[in-house]
Amino acid sequence: MSAGRLTIDLDAIAANWASLDAMSTEHVETAAVIKADAYGLSSRVVGKRLAAAGVRTFFVAVAEEGVALRPVVGDADIFVFSGHMSGDTELIERAGLIPLLNSPEQVTRHFSLAAGRPFGVQLDTGMNRLGMEAGDWEALSSELMDAGPRLVMSHLACADEPDNPMNHLQLRTFREMTDGIAHRRSLAATGGILMGPEYHFDMTRPGVGLYGGLPYSDATPVVRLDVPVIQTRIVRPFETVGYANAWEATVESCIATIAAGYADGLIRAMGPKAQAFAGETPCPFVGRVSMDLITVDVSHLDDVPEYLTLIGPMQGVDAVADAAGTIGYEILTSLGARYEREYV
Ligand SMILES: *Cc1c(COP(=O)(O)O)cnc(C)c1O
Repeated sequence: MSAGRLTIDLDAIAANWASLDAMSTEHVETAAVIKADAYGLSSRVVGKRLAAAGVRTFFVAVAEEGVALRPVVGDADIFVFSGHMSGDTELIERAGLIPLLNSPEQVTRHFSLAAGRPFGVQLDTGMNRLGMEAGDWEALSSELMDAGPRLVMSHLACADEPDNPMNHLQLRTFREMTDGIAHRRSLAATGGILMGPEYHFDMTRPGVGLYGGLPYSDATPVVRLDVPVIQTRIVRPFETVGYANAWEATVESCIATIAAGYADGLIRAMGPKAQAFAGETPCPFVGRVSMDLITVDVSHLDDVPEYLTLIGPMQGVDAVADAAGTIGYEILTSLGARYEREYV
C-alpha cells in the first residue's frame, strides 16, 4: 500500500458546526458552505453528516455542485453563489436549487425562465467580486422585494482581520442597502461569525471553520494525513538529493523517501520550510518536492516509522499552509485524489 492515508473526522466537522452555531443567538440560523467538494473533503459525505446534525441550509459555488449534493441533504435549502447562469435553469429546477442573483442580467433570466421559483440576492458591499452593485440594487430592489427573496446576502473581504476598517465599512454599506427589508439577511462567513453579533443578521455561512481552518483558531482539527515511507538511504557528505541537486549533505544523513508529492496537494512551494512528523519529532524536508515523492531527513530518529505524518496533531492544515506561503483553504482544496480516504 503506497498511497497516503487521509483521515477525515466527520464528528469534528459536526462539532465545529455546533460550536460556530453556539456563537450566535438562537434566532440566527447557521448554514454550511460546502463548495469545492466541501473544501476538498467530499460534499456528499460532509453534506450527509451535517444534514443529520441538523443543518438546514447549504451553500455551493456552482449549480452542478448543488445537483450532486441534493440526494444526501433531503429537502434542505441549497443556495448557489454564482447565481442563475445561462444553461443552469434545468439544473436549478431538477435539484430545487436557489440561485443568488448577482446582476440585472441574472434577475431577468431567472424571472423569465424560472418565474415563481425561489431565489436569493447577493449584493456587492465593496469587495467588487460578486453581487449586485448599489445602483442596480436601487433600480431593482422593489421588484425583487415584491417577488420575495429567500435571502439577501453579501460577503466580507477582510473578515480574517477583525481590526481591518473594511469590515465596518461593509457592515455599514450592507445595512444601508438592506435595513428595513422584510426578508432574511446574511453577511458573515467564518471570520464574520467570530467578529460578533452585529455581523450575524439572520443567517451565518461558515465554510473553512467547519473544516478546522483559520480564522477559527479554536476549531477541532478535522484532517490527518499519514504518508508511507517507501525507502530509506544513507547519504554521505557532498552527495545531493533530488531534482536540481537542491540539497547537499554536510554530514552523513539518513534520508527517507515518502509516497506523496505536489500531485497530491503538497505543493512545491512548501519545500524548504516544511516538515513531516514521526510521532512528535519533526523531520525536515530536504531537496525539492517531486510530483509523487518527498525526501525527508530522518537521521535523528532511532527507528524510522512506516508512515510519517504530514498533517496531524503536531502540524495542522494552517501550519502546512504557512510553510508553503499560502492559506489553509488552498491546502484543503488541493488534497489529492490518490489518498486512501477514511471517514471516521
Ligand atoms: C466561501 C464563501 C463563504 C465561506 O467562507 P469561509 O471563510 O470559508 O467561512 C461564505 N460566503 C461566500 C460568499 C463565500 O464565497
